[in-house]
Amino acid sequence: MSELQVKDTRYIAGTYGRFPVEIVSGKGSVYKDTDGKKYIDMGTGIGVNAFGVCDKKWVSAVKKQLNKVQHTSNLYYTNPCADLAEKLCLKTGLKKVFFSNSGAEANECAIKVARKYGKEHKGEEYFNIITLKNSFHGRTVTTLSATGQDVFHKEFKPLTEGFLYADANDCEGLIKLVSENKACAIMIECVQGEGGVNVLNKNFVLTAYELCQKNDMLLIVDEVQTGNGRTGKLYAYMHYGILPDVVTTAKGLGGGLPIGACMIGEKAEFTLGKSDHGSTFGGNPVCSAGAISVIDRLTEEFLSEVKRKSKLIVTTLENAKGIKSVSGMGLMLGVETEKPASEVVKECIKKGVLCLTAKTKVRLLPALNIPDKQLKKALEIIKSVCADE
Ligand SMILES: *Cc1c(COP(=O)(O)O)cnc(C)c1O
Repeated sequence: MSELQVKDTRYIAGTYGRFPVEIVSGKGSVYKDTDGKKYIDMGTGIGVNAFGVCDKKWVSAVKKQLNKVQHTSNLYYTNPCADLAEKLCLKTGLKKVFFSNSGAEANECAIKVARKYGKEHKGEEYFNIITLKNSFHGRTVTTLSATGQDVFHKEFKPLTEGFLYADANDCEGLIKLVSENKACAIMIECVQGEGGVNVLNKNFVLTAYELCQKNDMLLIVDEVQTGNGRTGKLYAYMHYGILPDVVTTAKGLGGGLPIGACMIGEKAEFTLGKSDHGSTFGGNPVCSAGAISVIDRLTEEFLSEVKRKSKLIVTTLENAKGIKSVSGMGLMLGVETEKPASEVVKECIKKGVLCLTAKTKVRLLPALNIPDKQLKKALEIIKSVCADE
């Protein structure tokens, strides 16, 4: 182990299993390590660096704000967070935004909105929220509870009560859960990211939407990973022709700075009132400036490029040797390989490509603007690793 790895292991809480890669800098879709070795980045820090590393326009937007004021607290007005909220509302049709610093916190806000909405509209006991098995909603105690995967639960019980888990794409099961329980919301990811890049089918999402309309419940769509252009539309729910009641996002929103958003539609626009919720850093002007520069660039023209690159990846990998299938949408793809995914990721690192895993799949979340040349090179390396016995 290098000096850095020894120090990190000694002083950083042991929650992460890091790969032996020491990143010092980067540009676009290429990282450089301590020895000057280059890596093509197919993971963007888990879908965060939407426009790659140190993108010129993004750096300039962030720097400009950094030279004005870095933080004010939410006791005062600042332009960047109001401008960002306006953009998000106008582009989605949602009505209000609460800013946080992470995806888990965006979901915490959505859960508070749902509980208060349920109490006010349906009664005290309507606090249950239906989520999906295999979902991922965050690491705080309550978002862990919302996460429908036992592996994350077992060491931390008792968790927050009031979460029920339905099978993804099982309409009958969902209808039954709603009819037999007192629920205030259904919470879904249109593409389950950590759960294995599983796309929800249209019928299921429409069923969830209609159940929420009929029973005066809120449909919460967790777009922490799928949001902000990742799937080829601004938000993944847009592929389904619905408008959810609450949409949460984070990861790619800030382009590399920590910001999350809980966007609330008409039904619950006024549910949160003064002192119902808050965050010291939420809506930070520097993070908001970074997010504005990301959102402004996600034009229809740009998103059609995201879709083209998605096709390029799918057609290159789909029938390649050692690859069983490709799932996902846009530049959020899961590759089922014959070799164990973790082995593929390790081999790719040796050959200069950084990929992620999701359950049994190799997960690809490249920068939305990854140049074709680097993308093709990375795909050739992934293909060669998968084909090699
Ligand atoms: C990553 C993720 C979260 C948690 O976000 P953090 O910023 O790590 O708190 C929540 N939901 C989904 C769908 C995610 O992918």
